[in-house]
Amino acid sequence: MKHLDCVVMAMTLFSSQMSYSASFYEQLEAVQLGDAHFDAQGRVETAGDIDQKVVCLRPMRKGLPNISAENVGEQVRVHLYGHGGSGWTLLWGSVDRAMALFEEKAKEHKLNEHVPITVIGAGCMGKVVALSLYHAGYRNIRIVAEQDDSIASLNSTGYLAMVSLATENESEKKQAEQLAIDTLKGYKKVEQGTHPIINEGVHLVDVYSGLGKEGEEGPLETYTGIEPYAEAGLLPKPENGVVKFSTGVSYPMRKFQTYFMDTSVLMEAFDRELKTRNIPVIHETVGSLDDIKTYVVFNCSGLGAAKLNHDDKVYPNMGLLLELAHQPLKKLDYIIYTRYQPPGAPKRIGPMDKADVYFMPRRGGLLGATFIDHNDGSDKALNEELFSKILRENKQFFGYPQN
Ligand SMILES: Cc1cc2nc3c(=O)[nH]c(=O)nc-3n(C[C@H](O)[C@H](O)[C@H](O)COP(=O)(O)OP(=O)(O)OC[C@H]3O[C@@H](n4cnc5c(N)ncnc54)[C@H](O)[C@@H]3O)c2cc1C
Repeated sequence: MKHLDCVVMAMTLFSSQMSYSASFYEQLEAVQLGDAHFDAQGRVETAGDIDQKVVCLRPMRKGLPNISAENVGEQVRVHLYGHGGSGWTLLWGSVDRAMALFEEKAKEHKLNEHVPITVIGAGCMGKVVALSLYHAGYRNIRIVAEQDDSIASLNSTGYLAMVSLATENESEKKQAEQLAIDTLKGYKKVEQGTHPIINEGVHLVDVYSGLGKEGEEGPLETYTGIEPYAEAGLLPKPENGVVKFSTGVSYPMRKFQTYFMDTSVLMEAFDRELKTRNIPVIHETVGSLDDIKTYVVFNCSGLGAAKLNHDDKVYPNMGLLLELAHQPLKKLDYIIYTRYQPPGAPKRIGPMDKADVYFMPRRGGLLGATFIDHNDGSDKALNEELFSKILRENKQFFGYPQN
């Protein structure tokens, strides 16, 4: 890795000549996509580098996630759901908020540590709530969940950034940012080995996004969702520089730093902790909150809350991921999160506020992602079209010849 301090470099881009002030110069291994081939219509013909295609749904909620507590007869119900594509990013802050609301109710109802508690949902919210309750002294806890594999929490890419919430005004945005900042503090403790619940699965990673202007070709300027942390001085300020990939292609890019959360490592660690504390995970579908008879219920059911809590603000947002194989992973410890205008391709239309090129170093490495509101993932033809687009554009971005 080479750093050039404030050197003015003349860079030749795809389509334009520009003078550019660069504070770093990085040589990075390219993701290996040379084996992917496409037919005349742009559909994937062969893709030896793909391990599996994943279709997954983010539990979006119009406005903010629901973090609230209510009395229903003698029962205390705490709701904690609707974190969209930022559930891991808001995890510790959201659980702390839910726990504080619960402790107020526990005082009001004079509950003791033996009160029976049901947590609905075995995603990151449900599992961390159960462990936090244990840490707070409660000893009669069970999790009830329809499933704990193929869920959003496990498929999540693990990028700590506020990129996928449905906040509708400044006040909601500020509240979400506060949850994100509280969560970042939690991950810092995880990384430093001082978190009371868990101490693995998280590390800092460089994130690269484009600098191109609207209408240009190549990687374009992008909102990465890390900006609020950088502005608050909680993560390093971004720098502009040059990235050259091992294929020979190079781009001016902006470099951020954030936490990468290895969600499969974290979920496994939560499972181990639950087992050690004898907190059972019962596989059952809850038809109605009224069917749960324990004094306390935590509703961490993600998308399931649309039905369970009759919440019409909850809706799915589809994310597609291509999990990779055969990658030189040790050399790929970086994130690419950028909008991208492929050279020679028709100019994009419609909202372009999310990344097109999205590489995360999770498991074997993955490419993604789509962010499609109100889509339940059942349109297989559309999914295939989008998988081809993801692979085609990533192959082009990483500097492989198109064919
Ligand atoms: C493709 C993709 C990429 C993502 N990337 C990121 C990222 O980079 N960074 C980030 O911060 N976030 C990301 N997310 C979002 C994040 O994964 C979610 O916000 C988070 O996992 C939500 O956690 P949860 O526990 O609320 O819900 P889930 O993980 O969906 O868990 C819900 C649980 O409730 C259970 N349940 C539902 N209904 C019932 C019922 N009736 N009875 C019993 N059980 C029920 C389910 O079976 C499940 O166990 C991503 C999501 C997707 C899909």
